[in-house]
Amino acid sequence: MKEKIIYCGSCGKPMKLKEDFGSELDGSASNEYCNLCYQDGAWTEPDISFEDFYDKSYEGFLASDMNKVQKFFLKKMYTKKFVSNLKRWKTN
Ligand SMILES: [Zn+2]
Repeated sequence: MKEKIIYCGSCGKPMKLKEDFGSELDGSASNEYCNLCYQDGAWTEPDISFEDFYDKSYEGFLASDMNKVQKFFLKKMYTKKFVSNLKRWKTN
């Protein structure tokens, strides 16, 4: 069976491990958002602007232990358009 990867609806990070997921107020795991974006039922940075959030996430991904191929795809795929279509930022 193919494993389904869930992407964070805020930053687009793929969530595979239990600890990748954020948490709800009652302590259960969020099934939509990652631990960097969402903890205890709230955004970790509720007031951040989309632009700042995008820059921060992009730099965070680049600084993580990705190989060259993953970084190549990140640069191609992780665009403002991609992030603006995630659930948190989608306006329509
Ligand atoms: Zn996230």
